[in-house]
Amino acid sequence: MKKFISEAKSLNPNPSLQRHTLKERTLNLSEHFTLSEFERSATAKKYGIDNSVPSRYVPVLQQLCQEVLEPLLTFVGRPIVITSGYRCNQLNVKVGGAYASQHTLGEAVDIRLPLTSYTAWDDNKRHTDLATANKWFDWLERHVDFDQLILETANGKDYWIHVSCRRNRKKNRHQVIRYLKK
Ligand SMILES: [Zn+2]
Repeated sequence: MKKFISEAKSLNPNPSLQRHTLKERTLNLSEHFTLSEFERSATAKKYGIDNSVPSRYVPVLQQLCQEVLEPLLTFVGRPIVITSGYRCNQLNVKVGGAYASQHTLGEAVDIRLPLTSYTAWDDNKRHTDLATANKWFDWLERHVDFDQLILETANGKDYWIHVSCRRNRKKNRHQVIRYLKK
């Protein structure tokens, strides 16, 4: 019996990759991204919304991480912050997301760019300037197979990127939209 256990262990050298229960919120979707990063939402917390990712969307998110976020991370060389990943329908309505947003299918992610410079507006907080935003955006446009790539801003000074991939990559529309003001 003991021998059997040690053999089983050697077949699974990395036990963390064997976790399939969604109760395990630290599930690795890829080398640098976890499921909890896609579920986290201040709005969900505020309204007590359960934003757990249904298991059927986990492989979709894994693909998004492996094909889009990991290559981007290698390019950027600094942590990428996920500001909005998965959204259950209830959360999507609360945040004013588009109807049937790809965020509700695990096909989309909003990423915050590294903060690059200080500004006089908003109490001297750091923000992402347009040059940095464009650098990331251009890289994604050239190197990744996407459905929609949107450069968004709320105030014209601080930027984030929405990127989505269809579960079926053949249906990707390759739409590029810059400076969508929310
Ligand atoms: Zn988005």
